[in-house]
Amino acid sequence: MPLPRSTCPNETRGIVRAWQAEGLSVGLVPTMGALHEGHLSLVRASDGECDRTVVSIYVNPTQFGAGEDLARYPRNLDGDCRLAEGAGADLVFCPADEAIYPDGHCTFVDQPGLTEVLEGEFRPAHFRGVLTVVLKLLHIVPANRVYFGRKDFQQTVVVRRMVRDLNVPTEVRVMPTVREPDGLAMSSRNRYLSEEERRQAVCLHRALVAARERYAAGETAGDVLCRTMGRVIAEAPMAQADYVEVVDCETLEPRDVVTDRAVAALAVRIGRTRLIDNMPLSG
Ligand code: AMP
Repeated sequence: MPLPRSTCPNETRGIVRAWQAEGLSVGLVPTMGALHEGHLSLVRASDGECDRTVVSIYVNPTQFGAGEDLARYPRNLDGDCRLAEGAGADLVFCPADEAIYPDGHCTFVDQPGLTEVLEGEFRPAHFRGVLTVVLKLLHIVPANRVYFGRKDFQQTVVVRRMVRDLNVPTEVRVMPTVREPDGLAMSSRNRYLSEEERRQAVCLHRALVAARERYAAGETAGDVLCRTMGRVIAEAPMAQADYVEVVDCETLEPRDVVTDRAVAALAVRIGRTRLIDNMPLSG
């Protein structure tokens, strides 16, 4: 029997509630589809920790800005369902836009501060869209645990904060970044890269590793570590950094003097494709 799919929020909530009434725990893995090993690692983690796993596949329009890649974002629902099933999913929730944003929808989650730095500076409405859709998904799939990838570091910080601030009764689990053999973080957007762009895209990971190595060697000045990363990015002619920062892992404030709480985070455009990555400086 193929993996069950539902496009209906009420039906999905009914299935999840019925599982929970039987005493089964439920994990939710929110995705925008175009699934790769990074997503599947989250599905496997949920499958390992929860009795039932729901994967949501929804390209959320409110988290894309004008001129971003909403229209060309890769979509392949049948292929995604096969992959999700192979990784242990029990249900796919794949709503249409009307089910998530019905006519007249006008309620959003705002979180000033944390959503205005790093990605938020370059994508001003992005996290408002992310937080709104994650909260909606958690109302539709009232999961015991929800799984996110470390790859989207700031997303994990703002979601954790929302879950805490709004008393959402779901445990947030953050899983390690899955990388290609050369270090490039897996991303649905990697498929936009030409062969040459793909070669140069490894500069993100190289820059993070360089910062980490300098920190391990005793360098604690935030600006020196940022310059180290900037130099590595500059070696890739097709790469243009939006930001290269070292920030606190919870407050996201830039660190002048770096401690073990610091995370190096960057966003780099390779040609027309914008990639992000991050790495804790210690641990
Ligand atoms: P997306 O479909 O891009 O919204 O991603 C859905 C989830 O998969 C998010 O929690 C991402 O952080 C996570 N994810 C994306 N890429 C990776 C990766 N390379 N390693 C681990 N998790 C990932």
